[in-house]
Amino acid sequence: MGEGLRIAVIGAGIVGTSCAFFLQRDGHRVTLLDPREPGTGTSFGNAGIISLGSVAPVVTPGLLRKLPALLTDRTSPLAIRWAYLPRLLPWLSRLALNARPARLERLASAIAELTARCDRAHDLLIQECGLGELVRSGGWLWVARSPATLLEASATNRRLWDRFGRRYELLDAAAVHALEPALAPDLVAGLLLPENRFVLDPCRYVQGIARGFLERGGTYLQAEAEGFAFEGSRIAAVGTSRGLLPVDGVVLAAGAFSKRLAALGGVRVPLDAERGYHVMLPHPPSSLGRPIYACEHGFVMAPMAAGIRITGGVELASPWAPPDFRRIRRLVPLAQRLLPGLSGEILSEWQGCRPTLVDSLPAIGPSPTTPNLWLAFGHQHIGLTLGPLTGRLIADLVAGRDPGFDLSAYAPGREYW
Ligand SMILES: Cc1cc2nc3c(=O)[nH]c(=O)nc-3n(C[C@H](O)[C@H](O)[C@H](O)COP(=O)(O)OP(=O)(O)OC[C@H]3O[C@@H](n4cnc5c(N)ncnc54)[C@H](O)[C@@H]3O)c2cc1C
Repeated sequence: MGEGLRIAVIGAGIVGTSCAFFLQRDGHRVTLLDPREPGTGTSFGNAGIISLGSVAPVVTPGLLRKLPALLTDRTSPLAIRWAYLPRLLPWLSRLALNARPARLERLASAIAELTARCDRAHDLLIQECGLGELVRSGGWLWVARSPATLLEASATNRRLWDRFGRRYELLDAAAVHALEPALAPDLVAGLLLPENRFVLDPCRYVQGIARGFLERGGTYLQAEAEGFAFEGSRIAAVGTSRGLLPVDGVVLAAGAFSKRLAALGGVRVPLDAERGYHVMLPHPPSSLGRPIYACEHGFVMAPMAAGIRITGGVELASPWAPPDFRRIRRLVPLAQRLLPGLSGEILSEWQGCRPTLVDSLPAIGPSPTTPNLWLAFGHQHIGLTLGPLTGRLIADLVAGRDPGFDLSAYAPGREYW
């Protein structure tokens, strides 16, 4: 590798901040660039689950079958702003094409390759950046009011967990309430993913990684990347809202907002936003010990440092459209029924954009046309889980090190459907 390179990392979410950390750790001179504070984009508001168990692509045949019902129910986990549909249609139809059975199996296998390796990258960051206080073991618990509902809601996942060797335990009512005594008594069926961990404050987690990056000599530039200045096929500088930044290499990790800059760097990517919301409620006197997925309603209740975070569903709309909190607020009384003692007082509410490529796989790798541009975005529902690993992989690619497994499934220039 020789002398460290001058590398600009665009975007300070969990993905970009992890890339910056691992590159700086390799001896490069890294500038992390974002108009916002680190961790305040989509990485701010997620459910905090480090999800070794995530292996299913975003769209499955079961979901496609339920689509009409999901789009007409006001409390369902899926909403669409119909005015955006014409722009969304090509992305949406390709997402659906990727639910073909043979394709789904291949995509699940590529997701499983990544999630199987997520823990080691988190452990390194937890250790080197001192983040242990923010992370808890205890698994992820799915609950339902009947075993039949639980089995139906988890059918595709259980098949994939069996195939990829992920552990899960089916629980009866007594076992559910032994784990989570505060849950309502009518929740009589459970499924525990014991290997999953969770983060008590995802924003502070990213900021801890950013601190580790700065302590190792990295630079943070509060600016927006606007374009690239080329010398031949290579990027010589990043045009930013605060002037030109000369570089030897660039990592693009701007989450759902990566599409325009990727195109400037020679890669057209089928990327759009699956918008998501949360509300924060105060902890009840007897609270939760782990995140809970409510199978009947499709939302998560996650115990965080600042309270219980209800995250629910997907809204298909322009990433720039103003938030509409009505649907997430409708989940509050449902959450109160599942967790008696939970007050309905909303402490804060939030909206973010999951960056989703039509095959559910992130883009991790070099641009096919710009040799000193690497892409690192498209982590859909599992960016907290995969951000640290992505940082490690990008550092390997920049250094020319063997990442230890085949990354061709994530190549930014791949066939997406
Ligand atoms: C409701 C909800 C719940 C979720 N729950 C989980 C979970 O439990 N577990 C899990 O693993 N994942 C979860 N996710 C997904 C996860 O949050 C995302 O996949 C992840 O945050 C994406 O990280 P990112 O770094 O790619 O994007 P972001 O966090 O959005 O970061 C991108 C950054 O790029 C910056 N940027 C954009 N344009 C520019 C530019 N031109 N120049 C400079 N900077 C720019 C933005 O300001 C932003 O800070 C959830 C998501 C949502 C919405």
